[in-house]
Parts: sequence; C-alpha cells; structure tokens
Amino acid sequence: MAKKASMKDVRRTNRALILRHLLLNGPTSRIEIGAATGLSPATVTSVVNGLLAEGVVKGDGFLESDGGRPRAILAIDPDGAWVIGADISESLVRVELFDLSLRRLAAREYPFEERHLETSTVRDILRDATRGLLDEVGGHRFRMLGLGLGVPGIVEGTTGDSDDAIIHADVIGWHSVDFAGLTDELGFPVYIDNGAKTTTQAESWLGSARGLEHSIVVLIGEGVGAGIITDGRLYRGSSSSAGEWGHTKISFDGPSCRCGSRGCVETFVGASAVLARWKGTDAWNGREADGIDALFAARRAGDEAAISAVDTLIDQLGLALANLVNLYNPQKIIIGGWFGDRIATDLLDELRRATCAYALEQPGNEAVLARSKLGQDAVALGAATLAIDRFVETGWPN
Ligand SMILES: [Zn+2]
Repeated sequence: MAKKASMKDVRRTNRALILRHLLLNGPTSRIEIGAATGLSPATVTSVVNGLLAEGVVKGDGFLESDGGRPRAILAIDPDGAWVIGADISESLVRVELFDLSLRRLAAREYPFEERHLETSTVRDILRDATRGLLDEVGGHRFRMLGLGLGVPGIVEGTTGDSDDAIIHADVIGWHSVDFAGLTDELGFPVYIDNGAKTTTQAESWLGSARGLEHSIVVLIGEGVGAGIITDGRLYRGSSSSAGEWGHTKISFDGPSCRCGSRGCVETFVGASAVLARWKGTDAWNGREADGIDALFAARRAGDEAAISAVDTLIDQLGLALANLVNLYNPQKIIIGGWFGDRIATDLLDELRRATCAYALEQPGNEAVLARSKLGQDAVALGAATLAIDRFVETGWPN
C-alpha cells in the first residue's frame, strides 16, 4: 500500500511541476518543459497527456525547428477552469472573475462606509457577485476552482481554507471573525489570506517579482504591510502572520499605533501619519489621497514644511526598508499600495539612496527597488492565484 501511495505522490508532484511551469511561463514545447523541470521525455509526455485529458492544457500550434520535425506548442487552456478573486480593502469589496490564464473577465465593486463591514454582508456580497459575474459572461458552464479572498488583516490558520481561518482586521472592525460554512454556501472552495500576501503572490506570478527567488513586496497606504518571497514561495511563518512589517518598531517612544504599541513603521510612513506630521491635524480624514496630492504639489512648489515632511518620510521609509534588506537579502523590493505608488513614481531614487544608507553595504547594493507593475488591482488577482495554486498542488476540488 505504501508503495502505491508514493507512486501517486510522484505523479502529483510531476503534474504540479509541469502545470506550474505552463502557468508561469506561457506556451512552450515538451522539450522545453523537460529542460526546465528536469523530468524525462517519457514522464513529460505522460503528464502532459493527463493535463490534455483534464482539459486544462491544449495544443497551440507548431514551432519550426532547425532541420527536425516541427515542435508542438502546449499552452494553458484559459477556459479549462475559472476562478474568482476578491479584495476587501478599507472601504471597498472588489470581486473579479478570471480564466485559468488569469485574464480578468469581469469585475464588481461594493463600497462600504466608515471602515466597518459585517461578515454577513461579505457573505451576501460574495454570493451576489459570483452569480452576477457568471451571468454577465455566460460562465455557468465552466468549472470553478474556487474563490480567493484577500483581507486587510492577519489570517490565522494552517491550511488557508476558509473553514479553518480566523481573521483579525482592526481596520474594518474584525476581531477573531471566521467564514465557516462559506464553501458550502458558494458551492466551491474558498481560500483566505492577508491582502499583502495575495498581492505578493500576484507580483511573483505575473508582476515585478516574476521569476525571482527572493523578493519583497511592500504595500503602503493608510496601513503598511509586506509580503516576502523566499526560494520562490510566499513566506508565512508558523501561523501565517509573517510579513507584519508595518508593526515592526523603529522607535521606542514614537506615536501610538492602532495595534496598541508605539513607534511602529506604520505610524511614521502610513499616509495619515505623514499628513499629520505635515499639518499637525487630521484635516484629510477619509480623503488621504487628496491630502497626499496636496503634499506632493506643495513640495514641488517649494513649500518648506512639505519638503521637510517628505524628506522625513523618505528617511524613515528607507530605514524600515533597510531592516528588510538586512533580514532577507532580497534581489528586489517592489513598492506598491496607493501611497507607495505615489512614492515610487516621484521619489524612487531618493528612497533607494536612503535605503542604501541604512542597509549593510553588500545586500543594500544588491537590492533593486521598483514600482509595482500590477498596481492596486493585484489583491484580487493574487487572491485568485490562491485557488489556482491549490489546484496545481492537489488537483480538482471535490
Ligand atoms: Zn503597530
């Protein structure tokens, strides 16, 4: 019996290797798959035949090769299965439908007020959105791999399955909430993860960190978070809370933080913290993006207080990034989130100098700083990859 089980494990591992290669690298030939995965031609042929039979891979024409027979090209069949990705942010739930190649087919948005959201409302939204999105594109006949949900908080749980997850998201009023039974309500699996982690997985699969073994995605908005890729996979720690960089401390007696502590990175580089330091008020409460526009415009116009506030931001953010550089030795740090994107657009060179000034010399010089390619849409996209990742590793949902 043991031998049988291990044969099955080998087949599953080989399938995962080849399917992941096709998903992340696009159309390719059997020979190239063999070269990239180290699997024998016989194994590649056998696994590919299985994937063709499953309907998730298809022939995609032929490539002429020097002298030999033309090579058959294989590609993911986009309609082999579909997935849904959902992003719960501080004021909006966004639900998006994707095909297996992660092309966005349709999307719906559900705004909410005052940074408070009942979990029962989320269940209603997800039911409504699923039905509405599939109606919109006539998609009810396609196989659904599941729904991934990115949330603005810590997700405890070892499996990532919604039935197993406990969520703490102060920013929308969630204290130890769960979504038990949601998988049964929707009729397909639901996976939940922190939004910074889903964004990081999206950047790693399709964005600025594509193909890198060691990278960090830093998200800066009101809140501040990070996702860490080590050896090509998302780093989660023992109970999935790894990457809470926003609550690492850079001061003993700094401003108090919503986490209950003081001096957290977020209390220095979060958007409202920066605005409060500039004007000493919370004048943009709820309209922080307008406030940051005003700050950057004032800085360009030579306003001394604005110049000083931005200089301080760059210095403190550089210090906080240098700590990540020293701890993880990344090849690249990707700056995202709505405020992070403004910083990366206008101030990337300054930020790189500040980071190098505080980091150890060798890892500091090695780490490239870059603006996110995917932008803020990456949370839902990354959440969708949770369902595809599970499909790659373990096969079709029951
Ligand atoms: Zn904190």
